[in-house]
Amino acid sequence: MKINLNNNTIVLCYHRIIDDTFTEIDFPNDGQSLKCDDFEKHLIYLKKHYTFVNDVESNIINKKKYNLFLTFDDGFLDIKTIVLPLLEKYNIPAMIFITSGFIDNNYQFVWWIDFWNNLKNKKSITIITNGIKKNYKFNTLKSKNKIYSIYIKKLFKMSRDEQYNFFKENNLGTNTKKYFLSKTDIAYLQNHYLIKIGLHSHLHINYGIECERSINYDLLEMNKYFDENNIKTHKKYFALCYGSLPNLHVLKNLETKFDLIFALGIKSYLISNKKIISRINVSSKQSLLRLKINLMLIKFIIFLKNVRIEK
Ligand SMILES: [Zn+2]
Repeated sequence: MKINLNNNTIVLCYHRIIDDTFTEIDFPNDGQSLKCDDFEKHLIYLKKHYTFVNDVESNIINKKKYNLFLTFDDGFLDIKTIVLPLLEKYNIPAMIFITSGFIDNNYQFVWWIDFWNNLKNKKSITIITNGIKKNYKFNTLKSKNKIYSIYIKKLFKMSRDEQYNFFKENNLGTNTKKYFLSKTDIAYLQNHYLIKIGLHSHLHINYGIECERSINYDLLEMNKYFDENNIKTHKKYFALCYGSLPNLHVLKNLETKFDLIFALGIKSYLISNKKIISRINVSSKQSLLRLKINLMLIKFIIFLKNVRIEK
């Protein structure tokens, strides 16, 4: 399928939008969870200055000049409970990139949340990595967050097997039972006038780290799940987990399988092309001001790209 991209469309990526009643201990400081109140402030500001579109192909051009395409990764339950009511309130379309294994909470290993759930109620923890034992005592939430961010960086660089082994060796539990959308939720969302469904792997593995065999198996299982459960996707849009790019050979293969591949982070603007779409990751650490600065930066990059195209 030939896709005609609109060069003036900026894609934003959100993950979890959490209830305002949540306290700092209830969710990990993983840069992926944004309070509902802050999210609404984003929407109000963005709606005023940009035109929201329902596809990267959309060719709406008006005096606002830049378009925004809103995306949400992973398929968290809050899409239904918090995000959708706000999208309806402001009439904003969005795409949800769903990890098929997370649907109905079937797959219970979401390491970045699980690891926090293991830490949050403890006063101390012993962690073994590569045979080295370390003891940590937490006097403050800040010290707990520090240990969290150290190990989250280590876990991020591990393959799924290594992550399992880390949890097993350290007797860490997995407890993500209630976080994701059900099949019934998705059946409702896929027919909603504001929502489009995209693909986000089967078990949320890191394609930048896993071997080709694991990646192909993951893609196979993802397609099987979507087919068997009759989940209708909008074209074949695939978002890379963690925004990690696989090696060139695998990337070429993905380009043949999907209409578009969505990466993440400002750096991804350097490699974006007709098949690879960059997205700005909107994290909890980003105040509205930071988001505004990132948008300014992206607009400047788009401007440079457009000048190059015109030449
Ligand atoms: Zn993801």
